[in-house]
Amino acid sequence: MIRLPPQESLTDIERYALGLLIDLARIPPVEDPSVDVVRLLVVERDGAAPDLRTCVARDWYLERGDGTVSLPRPVLRRIGEVATARTEWRSTSRDRYDRVPARENELVQAGLASDPVISRAAVALRTAVIATAGRRPLAFVAPWPDGRRWAAAFTHDLDVVAYWPLFTLLRIAELTRKGELRRIGRVALAAVSAIGRDPVARAVRGVLDDECAHGIVSTWFVLCGTPSFATMRAGDLTYRSEGRAAQAILDTLTERGSEIGLHGSFATADRDELFREQRGRLERLVGPPVRGVRQHFLRLRAGATPRGMAAAGFRYDSTCGFFDRNGFRVGIADVVPLWDPSAQRSLGLDEAPFCWMDRTLSKYGGVEDPATWVADGAALAETCRQVEGLWVGVWHPNLSPPLGYPDAPDAFRSLLSRIAAQGPFLGPLRTMVEWRAARRSLRVRHLLPDGRFDAEAVVSPPAPQSLTLEDPSHRVLATLNR
Ligand SMILES: [Zn+2]
Repeated sequence: MIRLPPQESLTDIERYALGLLIDLARIPPVEDPSVDVVRLLVVERDGAAPDLRTCVARDWYLERGDGTVSLPRPVLRRIGEVATARTEWRSTSRDRYDRVPARENELVQAGLASDPVISRAAVALRTAVIATAGRRPLAFVAPWPDGRRWAAAFTHDLDVVAYWPLFTLLRIAELTRKGELRRIGRVALAAVSAIGRDPVARAVRGVLDDECAHGIVSTWFVLCGTPSFATMRAGDLTYRSEGRAAQAILDTLTERGSEIGLHGSFATADRDELFREQRGRLERLVGPPVRGVRQHFLRLRAGATPRGMAAAGFRYDSTCGFFDRNGFRVGIADVVPLWDPSAQRSLGLDEAPFCWMDRTLSKYGGVEDPATWVADGAALAETCRQVEGLWVGVWHPNLSPPLGYPDAPDAFRSLLSRIAAQGPFLGPLRTMVEWRAARRSLRVRHLLPDGRFDAEAVVSPPAPQSLTLEDPSHRVLATLNR
């Protein structure tokens, strides 16, 4: 528990950054002013905020007092800037798909993108609170349901449904450029034997079977616009979700209980009214509500695109991640509320950032061995576990031998086993987002004379889970009634 500084002493972005930090640190704020708990102080400092590497090296300048932890105001603002990717939304540089290149990201510039530095700042805050508490009461919200200490979510973008041999040919062209002759031979063999056997639907079922073996329910992002010759040539929309093949895949996903979200086509990034149209179209196919969205090719305009998503009724986005490397684009391995930089307020839309994607290494890193891709995924999962955070990975189901990726399904299976062996809470993104919204809403009103907590969460956790308060050694102090 912690007492926060008065709200009116902070600017909007400072309030956002502070809320984010105590949420990631799992420290609920206390409302009753008479309870003696550790106080967080935001202290004035002259000059600009120090550079990021120094902030990290100095544990974000957190200072411990007697029952107080203080944080310099410029450092708090710095945390807000990193968490909202400020340098990216100010940048005018774009790649050929109209995306902000990774080199514009401040964490990439500082060489810190493979570590969730803001999540670690929250861990440092929690450690400081414990160290300064003395005899003051301490309680934290348990991180994830079922007593789990971290979480993992597997997600899939359905980019390929129709015309699969075309994708095989494109991939063979890519492998030819790379001189991967042996792989080409294996692909050609697999493709020939897949003719007439619907390899796309088979690959989807294969992924679902492998996940099911570990009790994993995943999230699938599906394109839902009208393809044209131009969209196909651009690698944008390549199938109609109402078509027979896509319909069969959607039916399989529904039968298996998978979560289905929208994979926003290129045009949605600029024409936000299309979000409403595509979301409605998908809901007519799979039933409402469609809560999540991720942009195809991660094409997104900071501010404008998320505003369009929120206006169309989405609950969360999962576009925030790098397309050409693995890592943490806003320094956070967890669900966070999105900030609107132009309006300087929260959007009412959460972000579930992903830190690992199958194609970052093969497409942009020149690495063709799937075992190396998944080794990176497992290492990042270990990092997420260290900060009690959420690992989100993207695996494209078209990564199958007939479509150009021998060894890929085996590698995915090994990633599933390696992550499941570390005992995370496993679920689709909608469950992660709901759980985090409930956890974030927990407030301690008073401490009763007998030491019990009068605590309340305005948002209920997803059934059948309940929120618990725990002490620093993870012993349960109280369970909140649903
Ligand atoms: Zn896509």
